[in-house]
Amino acid sequence: MTPVTTSRPGTDVRTAVPLSGYTTLRLGGPATRFIEAKTARTVVDAVRAADEAGEPLLVLGGGSNVLVSDHGFNGTVVHVATKGMTEDCTTPGLVQLTAEAGENWDDVVAKTVAAGLGGLECLSGIPGLVGATPVQNVGAYGVEISEVLVSVDLLDRASGEVRTLTADQLGLAYRTSVLKGTDRAVVLRVRFELADTGLSMPIRYAELANTLGVVPGERVPVDRVRQSVLDLRRGKGMVLDEDDHDTWSAGSFFTNPVLPHDELQEALARIAAQVGADVRIPQYPADGGGKLSAAWLIERAGFAKGYPGPGNRVSLSHSHTLALTNRGDGTTADLLSLAREVRDGVHKVFGVQLEAEPVLVGVTL
Ligand SMILES: Cc1cc2nc3c(=O)[nH]c(=O)nc-3n(C[C@H](O)[C@H](O)[C@H](O)COP(=O)(O)OP(=O)(O)OC[C@H]3O[C@@H](n4cnc5c(N)ncnc54)[C@H](O)[C@@H]3O)c2cc1C
Repeated sequence: MTPVTTSRPGTDVRTAVPLSGYTTLRLGGPATRFIEAKTARTVVDAVRAADEAGEPLLVLGGGSNVLVSDHGFNGTVVHVATKGMTEDCTTPGLVQLTAEAGENWDDVVAKTVAAGLGGLECLSGIPGLVGATPVQNVGAYGVEISEVLVSVDLLDRASGEVRTLTADQLGLAYRTSVLKGTDRAVVLRVRFELADTGLSMPIRYAELANTLGVVPGERVPVDRVRQSVLDLRRGKGMVLDEDDHDTWSAGSFFTNPVLPHDELQEALARIAAQVGADVRIPQYPADGGGKLSAAWLIERAGFAKGYPGPGNRVSLSHSHTLALTNRGDGTTADLLSLAREVRDGVHKVFGVQLEAEPVLVGVTL
């Protein structure tokens, strides 16, 4: 198929567009129709038109949390490319920031840090666009977006209406929300409440506190936190770099398993039986139970950093066992094969089930 381009103001429609060019894994076959939507109006019109026609629709941001089939997407892809940011001082000491869904997330973080606003600094260096941050309640280094999120404007696809939902209506939890994997709404803009003190959120993550030389709970100038987070992330291949295949990933491919108290105790006993009772098993408190480290389980199950997939075309990152990477000529089928091997290996050794974090488009694990 020869790509075709048509244009209306605020819209750019093409056909047979390879989605590998729009995902950080550089994987995914062609989309039948690909709409670059530069205004919220265009996003709404394009989504409503596809829904009314009963056409399959994929909303795409930065493509950093999706794994798309090698066969592509047989329907319309709406690539959110809306821009704009405004600030409002509603309460003394607090600034309400409104960002359009198509803004680059890390650009927004950088601007808030440069302006001395506290709240987003620990979320520095995460790829993707603003509109996807509430979708999986983006989090890193002890902070989740839910802590600073006020509300989102979204297009409710069932009713076709644009509505505002407050953060507590979004079901935000560890790497998920009512929006993730459901196709029920398209986020048009997001509001955050930030502090104008120039200081960070309390530093909770031990590795970050160590790097900063502070005790957990302290607040630190936001620019120092951003720099330290970016340095830590680079060391783990978690900042995008075109020249570094360890960053050709979707970030963490598996979520950390969260288990209710009883199941956690059983899992800890099984793991201790394998690794030895004297080995410390990383675990963190979580609602009603605890959270295990997927990276630790993967490594202990025998999958070292750099562990190769089919033909060495994909592999675990050489910097982090939790990232599955494309070495340049990989396919989605290759990546799924490696993901299944790791998931099944961890289950066989420890009896713990790993779940994929990225949204799977046209494929299953
Ligand atoms: C190197 C690397 C490091 C990463 N580190 C982290 C991390 O530390 N913490 C973390 O939480 N994540 C991390 N991620 C995952 C990813 O960056 C985030 O989940 C990010 O928010 C995804 O944004 P995106 O715009 O790329 O979304 P996409 O990948 O384009 O989309 C993801 C999902 O959200 C939906 N979606 C996208 N935009 C919208 C919208 N406007 N409205 C409704 N639905 C939408 C899509 O349909 C899809 O289902 C990392 C990824 C990479 C590659």
